Amino acid sequence: MVTRRSQAMVPGVCTANHMAQEKQILEIPDFLTVRELADLMDATLIEVMKEFINNGIMASINQQIDFDTAAIVADSFGFEARPETPADAAAEVDETDLPAWRRLYEEEDPSALQTRAPVITVLGHVDHGKTSLLDVIRSSRVQEGEAGGITQHIGAYQAEAEGRLITFLDTPGHEAFTAMRARGAQGADIAVLVVAADDGVMPTTREALAHVRAANLPVVVALNKIDKNNANPELVKQQLAELDLKSDEWGGDTLVVPVSAKTEEGIDDLLQAILLVADEIDILANPKREAAGTVLEGRTETGRGPVATLLVQNGTLRTSDVVVAGLSHGRIKAMFDHTGQQLKEAGPSVPISVMGLDEPPHAGEMFEVVKDIKIARTMVEERRQEAAEAANRQVVGPSLEDFFSRFQAGEAKELLLIIKADVDGSLEPVVNSVETLGTDDLKVRVLHADVGDITEDDVNLASVSGAIIIGFNTRPDSAAARVAESLGIDIRSYSIIYKLIESVELALHGLLEPEYEDKVIGVAEIRQIFRVPRVGNIAGSYILQGVARRNAKARVVRGGEVLAENLGVSSLKRFEEDVREVRTDFECGIGLANFDDIQEGDRIEFYVRERVN
Ligand code: GDP
Repeated sequence: MVTRRSQAMVPGVCTANHMAQEKQILEIPDFLTVRELADLMDATLIEVMKEFINNGIMASINQQIDFDTAAIVADSFGFEARPETPADAAAEVDETDLPAWRRLYEEEDPSALQTRAPVITVLGHVDHGKTSLLDVIRSSRVQEGEAGGITQHIGAYQAEAEGRLITFLDTPGHEAFTAMRARGAQGADIAVLVVAADDGVMPTTREALAHVRAANLPVVVALNKIDKNNANPELVKQQLAELDLKSDEWGGDTLVVPVSAKTEEGIDDLLQAILLVADEIDILANPKREAAGTVLEGRTETGRGPVATLLVQNGTLRTSDVVVAGLSHGRIKAMFDHTGQQLKEAGPSVPISVMGLDEPPHAGEMFEVVKDIKIARTMVEERRQEAAEAANRQVVGPSLEDFFSRFQAGEAKELLLIIKADVDGSLEPVVNSVETLGTDDLKVRVLHADVGDITEDDVNLASVSGAIIIGFNTRPDSAAARVAESLGIDIRSYSIIYKLIESVELALHGLLEPEYEDKVIGVAEIRQIFRVPRVGNIAGSYILQGVARRNAKARVVRGGEVLAENLGVSSLKRFEEDVREVRTDFECGIGLANFDDIQEGDRIEFYVRERVN
């Protein structure tokens, strides 16, 4: 989404009650930029730019316009323009009225911050044309290097549009994006969601969007393959609107740009749209400090040794700088850009491949410049130790039970959910009902909702975003279950909607307790009793079904009635040998802890306690 509209009162706006038809008065200074006018009206830049064009005025976003020009556009937005009074000028710089990203910018030393090229990630369903679009932009918009124009695939490149640079990460797809996020990297500033006009919104489109939303990135939609006879852009726009990606043409906030990677139609519009969105979010960095950023790729090349592609996100990287990237380090020996040209320095948003590290770092790891090799070595050593310690600790992700305590500790601001259901008919009511459960302070946000099994991708999304997965009449597939277990991700399955809602509600109030169920894993029949002095009765038994386990719980059943339960197994023997388990159709001796009242013909059920929800 391109815009952030606040519900708060906009400075300079008040209502003229004396008029028959309520028209808001907007106090406007003698001169202001298009951006400032948009802010003043609480309108999106796109809406305002469109209105300028409708009125035959060509103005760029940061261009100064005079009162009269602003008044014409303000009128189209239903405002009556008035010259600003000094008191309002003071109110306007009230920091608390600034959107968050502006406040951040205001708090920094403004002289140090400069605009940098936006970094773009391209996502979407398979075969919708992500690679083709990246290729066509690369081949037509990348300036050739002096090295003879041989473009190098280094994981990213910079294209030129309207005299400005745009950095494209050229490993498309959200798997790469998620892998980076899983390591804590936030490489991109804007996501281009590619949707084929002949195929429309597909499951991976929705998945990709969920990842983008989890990362809070603004989205530009590239409606690709419009050259095809069966392209149906209007239908796709409808599908996009259902995903809250309403096209700006339809009064929404999302720029949906029809393109063709084949005929190259619309490519310029796409680049322009990216720049427009970039201008809305102010993409800044301080080039005058030591560099830091993200590793895009790491590999070993014959003859060159370890080579890493780095994206500088802040500061400027220079040859002979000492870099630490994850567990690798070294002094930069040589640096190349995406055209193969050798560089001496690289500023913010510039992707480069570098030589000089002792081993290839992993994609998604952060890198930083440190003062000298000694510090670098110490940092890597500390990280190795930390990694070894972390490997010994069990990973536990957020769970529904501990949500409230995390909220109270300030670690969670909202309850993030990924909801999967068996059919559309049940997905909608589930999503609608859980969304209403939050309060102003404690929000419930559904990050991703779809029909189908819980997949590995859902688990990955949960892992990087701290979300909890809820399945309604659907369960994780085997890969998802495996990954969820290793990552400690909480997956809940429900088949009754009120139970599901109740759990979420209880979690929101910190009252949810885990539920357990006993699952019988084996049944033994007692065939003979052996009395062992000082030990007690041992049940000579035959395993009728399942498995008898030494570490399971046991209950004794006589004639269908439970005599005792929650008993420990004090001994389990095959002949004279102690064993951990005995399977169906084998005989064994079973001793029960603190229970002697057994008879021939009794059954011993072995069970384990499993968490159901
Ligand atoms: P990806 O899986 O999203 O990276 O998709 P690709 O870029 O590999 O494209 C999938 C197929 O669609 C390829 O056969 C492309 O040639 C074709 N394709 C991509 N863009 C267009 C387009 O704009 N028009 C047409 N007609 N075909 C396209």
